[in-house]
Amino acid sequence: MNADDSGARVDVDAGGIAQSVGTGLLPEGARIDRMLAEAHAHAARHHEGRVADYIPVLAAADPEAFGLCVVGVDGVRHEVGQTATRFSIQSISKAFVYALVVDHLGHGRVREVVGVNNTGLAFNSLIAIELHDGHPRNPMVNAGAIATTALMPGADPDAQWEAVREGLSRFAGRPLAVDDEVYRSESETNQRNRAIGQLVHSYGRIERRPADVVDVYTRQCALSVDTVDLAVMAATLADGGVNPVTGERVVSAEACRDTLAVLATSGLYETSGDWMFEIGLPGKSGVAGGLITVAPGKVGMASYAPRLDAAGNSVRGQIAAAYLSRVLGLNIFASAPYASGLPLR
Ligand code: GLN
Repeated sequence: MNADDSGARVDVDAGGIAQSVGTGLLPEGARIDRMLAEAHAHAARHHEGRVADYIPVLAAADPEAFGLCVVGVDGVRHEVGQTATRFSIQSISKAFVYALVVDHLGHGRVREVVGVNNTGLAFNSLIAIELHDGHPRNPMVNAGAIATTALMPGADPDAQWEAVREGLSRFAGRPLAVDDEVYRSESETNQRNRAIGQLVHSYGRIERRPADVVDVYTRQCALSVDTVDLAVMAATLADGGVNPVTGERVVSAEACRDTLAVLATSGLYETSGDWMFEIGLPGKSGVAGGLITVAPGKVGMASYAPRLDAAGNSVRGQIAAAYLSRVLGLNIFASAPYASGLPLR
């Protein structure tokens, strides 16, 4: 966000939570429910951070709202708190649009146009674009996300928009719709994103009309979801591209894998390193307060808690994800010596 946007610098230090090491299976349901309740209580003690207000309508969110949901690759769901509260998906949409575009165009082409490396700068940075000769670097910052949306199939902006809406709906397993108030509010105040679109276009990296592409991007960010929707979407990424609730294949396993690699390096913007250090899983945040975490082959997790840190990531969401990653044994970097027998649980 902007330098003067002084959300808290939050230390998500999960050091005190014992690290379980996963065996490939999740614990049985009753234990997951208990761990989810503990994660919720643990994170609810935190009141740091600020609700986003650079998109005016987001400022009206209840700062205390907090929902947490996990959906396993078996489609079984566990939830706690305000999981039915609706909010706009915002940047989390970038992950799913990217998956759709990779599915459509393949591994190499999208990498060439959009890139896969962290910029180390804020999600709406213009400097980052200039520093890299107009290359957006990765699809999780606004420049790369706008360039990615431009690659969606469709003869015109309406067709592209419908492909986005329909694609994200398949990830969620229900028809998603735009929150018109959010769309209007952001459209009236998205001068910065329009500038990003123009700038990337000036380097020849967007082939469509940038104003149209930014409009589709703004709509995609305004799609209305709840925490359960996000958990199902995350679980689809955990399940090789098949929605574990509907059984529908949404994208290829390869597109899924590529998307998770990008989320691992860039899902939480310039604090993706902190995130990986504490949580050890691919994740993606949005400025309305949503956050998804994906444990490949195991589970999709989602949270809604609108207070954000300085980079624009949900504070409680990160704390709950760190807790769950530890107690559920999901951190992909955690191992136990083979000679010690069965891994801890
Ligand atoms: N729609 C928002 C924007 O473009 C999304 C940003 C975010 O969630 N980080 O600014």
